[in-house]
Amino acid sequence: MAKIVVVGSSNTDMVIRTERIPGPGETVLGGEFTMAAGGKGANQAVAAARLGAQVTLVARVGADLFGDGALEGLSKEGIDTRYVTVDPEAASGIALIFVDADGENSIGVAPGANARLSPDDVRRAQQAIEGAHVLLLQLEIPLDTAACAAELAHRAGVQVILNPAPAPTGPLPAGLLNCVDILTPNESEAGALAGMWVADLPGAKDAAQSLINQGVGKVIITLGAKGALVVSSEVQQLVPGYPVEAVDTTAAGDAFNGGLAVALAAGKGLLDAVRFANGCGALAATRLGAQPSLPSLDEVTSLMG
Ligand code: ADP
Repeated sequence: MAKIVVVGSSNTDMVIRTERIPGPGETVLGGEFTMAAGGKGANQAVAAARLGAQVTLVARVGADLFGDGALEGLSKEGIDTRYVTVDPEAASGIALIFVDADGENSIGVAPGANARLSPDDVRRAQQAIEGAHVLLLQLEIPLDTAACAAELAHRAGVQVILNPAPAPTGPLPAGLLNCVDILTPNESEAGALAGMWVADLPGAKDAAQSLINQGVGKVIITLGAKGALVVSSEVQQLVPGYPVEAVDTTAAGDAFNGGLAVALAAGKGLLDAVRFANGCGALAATRLGAQPSLPSLDEVTSLMG
């Protein structure tokens, strides 16, 4: 069975849909409230678990109602939470999201316990990391924690996938990049990392090449409905996306990364794994929300035909 360890964030997303997003000093009455489990680490862990992988999450939540809810939700998905630390001194990560009638949003994130996920937390999970096929990382946790996990995995010969989201403000430390086998930015993240503006396929190719020059083995730039561009020293290929009726692309990237990790852990080749990941991302785009939109293995198999 495909074994995956995710080291990353767990948040609770609180969403208010209003006619328009309130400006400073303004109160907008009306609308509707929903709450759901989120955070890129937890989302990608759930994505991989729904695709049938054995998933362990290394994360931190607060000793509060939101942390309890997050742990319960993760366990229901069959995710091993023994390395999810309950932090008595920090609140759980919370994202407050306004969405207006046009679907435009405005988001504030209080990382809380996520900002305290430490290299020691990672070292406690060393055995699980070393026994995995794939380690999956994002950037909603401290950089030195992500770097510690990448180094442990790399030294043990475990494949490391880094989804550099949210977009970093500058280049990533060489020590981290050297331990990453596959980097999976979207267009704006690729642009931020490469220090260039990426708005089309030629731009994505330039950014990928610049990242390879920075020491990353393989780069996969996700391109929304267009699919994903795969670049390594051996290949440069656009793997087209699946045509679907997109409703809400929230968590499409998380579905893609979870799918990529599962396919690689199961021994698929890189291009086949990206085709599978495209199927996962496409299905997530057809449904509302983050975790509720993440597909099962059967759904992906039937989309791919
Ligand atoms: P992010 O959500 O991180 O910005 P993308 O928008 O690039 O990332 O989406 C990630 C992946 O999800 C894409 O590479 C693609 O496989 C799939 N995807 C996203 N949007 C669509 C869409 N409208 N139609 C089909 N596939 C999509």
